[in-house]
Amino acid sequence: MVELDPRDYEIAELGPKVREVEDLEELEEMLELEEGGPNREDVKTLLVSRIERLEAEDEESPQDIDPSELTVAELGNVVRKIEEVDELEVLLEEEKKGQDRKTAKRLIESQLESVQGSEEGETTERLPPEEKYPELDHPTADKQYVKALSGGVYRDMWVYCETQGGELIDVSKEMLGKARELMDGYNDSYDAEERVVAVVIGDSVEGLAEETIAYGADVAIYTEDERLERFYHKPYTEVFCEMARAGSGSEWDRSEGDANWKTIDGEVYDEPRYVLFPATNNGRDLSAQVQAELDSGLASDCSGLYIEETVISNPAKTGEAGDKKEFERVLHMKRPDFSGFEYSTILCLDAPGREFHPQGASVIPGSFDLPDPDPEREGEVVEFEATLDEEWFRVTIEDHDRLEGGVDLTGREVIVALGRGIGDDPTKGIELGLDLVDAFEDADLGITRGIVTSSYQFEGHVEQYSKEERQIGETGQVVAPDLYIAAGISGAIQHKVGMDESDTIVSINTDPEADIKDFSDYFIEGDLFEVLPKLTEAVERGEPVPAVADGRGDD
Ligand code: FAD
Repeated sequence: MVELDPRDYEIAELGPKVREVEDLEELEEMLELEEGGPNREDVKTLLVSRIERLEAEDEESPQDIDPSELTVAELGNVVRKIEEVDELEVLLEEEKKGQDRKTAKRLIESQLESVQGSEEGETTERLPPEEKYPELDHPTADKQYVKALSGGVYRDMWVYCETQGGELIDVSKEMLGKARELMDGYNDSYDAEERVVAVVIGDSVEGLAEETIAYGADVAIYTEDERLERFYHKPYTEVFCEMARAGSGSEWDRSEGDANWKTIDGEVYDEPRYVLFPATNNGRDLSAQVQAELDSGLASDCSGLYIEETVISNPAKTGEAGDKKEFERVLHMKRPDFSGFEYSTILCLDAPGREFHPQGASVIPGSFDLPDPDPEREGEVVEFEATLDEEWFRVTIEDHDRLEGGVDLTGREVIVALGRGIGDDPTKGIELGLDLVDAFEDADLGITRGIVTSSYQFEGHVEQYSKEERQIGETGQVVAPDLYIAAGISGAIQHKVGMDESDTIVSINTDPEADIKDFSDYFIEGDLFEVLPKLTEAVERGEPVPAVADGRGDD
């Protein structure tokens, strides 16, 4: 007869009581009673979790362990469960006498530090959420509780290079160029030799992986499989995480091949130090899940990045109220907030007893310059043979259609954008904008939401230019061309956020007080119906636009 009959208790009362039960048989009997009685899912999860925990503790007594018989990954799993200082010290000695592996010793030492820390009361006991919050549903019970790395080794900047139609998309190249610049500066500052690692996932992507070297990667790691032809959330996330943890020996490391490509100074690092994703639909989807799986954070939709020291006094990060702590090598991730009304700089910092790596960002396309490829650059291209589980492909794409139309304004050298200033003669206004577009080699027409939602009557042939697909701004496209010409646009914050990363902004407005003047490089006070044709003529004559603007406006 069991001492604790689960049928007599609500889940919330049961949690703390179950935690006290140390007898496996008793717990199994309790589980049977529950299954034969109310059969509540949450109670069963609670009991199973406790049973598994006790079983894991009993599994192997540390005295029986000979580290030389275990791989680093197996040793990592064993070590994680040992909570006795003496036992860990014995194991460390055994490892030193035996294979004396650097990563193995670090794993044991890191566990030793964490156990010693908790004995000194520096850290509080971490309970699995099933035990801590038994009244809640626990859909992620299979992941157990997150035990982040502590004392981990982090190296390199990884760039997830998205592909489309068998090509690297521009933002992948832009990120590689930025990563190169950041890591060159990093290596100079810290006298290090850390690398830019490009990650390419897809079908037949070896050639694209090679191409990333020309754009600045030192190492390109790729996984190819015909099932990965299109972006699928689950397998792409799993493959990326498997690469990131390869060779770490962490309990989630499923990789089987060697991880030499992740070796720096003779040591395989646990996870990347930094990682960049494109802020595209797929990149946003992937980045959020990957960073959650790796138990780190993500600054999404960034437009500026730099690496610097920072001093923090937040006790959650320093461990002690009133203390200040300097963090080194911090990736500062700048992003527009409140619809671009202000810029925030996001930092992803370790906390005592818990490290947050990789420091990760997704990057708005067009934020950084497209680098020129250097076909002479050399680098290492490695195939990563990930274990692809059939289960991950339960969703299949049976058929697909390419949408008709759809306008991509990103990547253009010049954007001519029109706003409600065209109101006096909307058809003519659009025609004048299109004339100017035609005068440039690589330009296109954008519009404000003011036009999309207006009730202007356009004559047939220009109506197609008044649709949402050309809208620029918070709820439209985000562009950063070399030259942005804004005609008849007031500069509302929701528009600004979609274009103020442009290199040069020229605006034309009848109102000298228009907000757009504040963030324009050149402001032309005038009527767009007069100014646009003059600009078109000037461009056709080969005169640079800012020179024209200079001549007419009050900068
Ligand atoms: P107006 O603000 O009406 O400005 C017209 C300008 O033209 C004025 O400055 C005027 O002085 C000037 N002008 C008038 N006649 C002439 C002339 N003949 N020659 C030269 N200048 C002239 N807006 C976007 O653009 N993109 C978005 O993604 C977006 N998302 C939004 C999301 C939300 C949730 C909300 C609430 C709003 C959003 N908006 C967006 C709308 C935004 O707030 C503004 O209303 C819109 O940008 C204004 O468009 P406009 O500049 O064309 O018009």
